[in-house]
Amino acid sequence: MIRVPHNRGPSESSRSAKMAKHEALLIIDMLNDFCREGAPLFVPMTREVIPNIRREIGRARREGTAVVYVCDAHDRNDVEFKNWPPHAVEGSPGAEVIDELKPSARDIIIHKKTLMGFHNTDLENKLRGLGVGLVTVTGCVTNICVMLTAVEAAVRGFNVRVPGDCVAGLDMQMHEFALRELEQVIKAEVY
Ligand SMILES: [Zn+2]
Repeated sequence: MIRVPHNRGPSESSRSAKMAKHEALLIIDMLNDFCREGAPLFVPMTREVIPNIRREIGRARREGTAVVYVCDAHDRNDVEFKNWPPHAVEGSPGAEVIDELKPSARDIIIHKKTLMGFHNTDLENKLRGLGVGLVTVTGCVTNICVMLTAVEAAVRGFNVRVPGDCVAGLDMQMHEFALRELEQVIKAEVY
């Protein structure tokens, strides 16, 4: 039997045209336990990117772009703590977004328990509900949650953008590797 290619029809193409108009700014793990000196998973480079993420938040709010915080919120005995020191336990001060980047009442907050922002969370539903077609990914750590969440976004059909001065790595080599990987493998726009 010959399979006839599925006819997309006007409704689907107009839907994707509409989706392409909407953007979301993702801010990943800019929490006290990653960004405060002496914190269990302190990533020093986060200090440098805070003003740049503030710039992106300002722009998003001016342009009406959705601002979405994607935040670790671990159980007390989370399985992730086999590999990492305990951090960002749900409800603890360490799991709160740093004061410099505090969410406003209209921003969206997504809690995650793994390295991946879409895994077992409501992130995809929220983005689809807003008609988002393009996500700008910021935060930490470049080669961990940022990269993995960007890959998850791409395999779900979202276009991905990464401003290099808004992501923080644990070391420069892995930071640069992750940006190259995103550019070459998922064709993210890295700038
Ligand atoms: Zn974690």
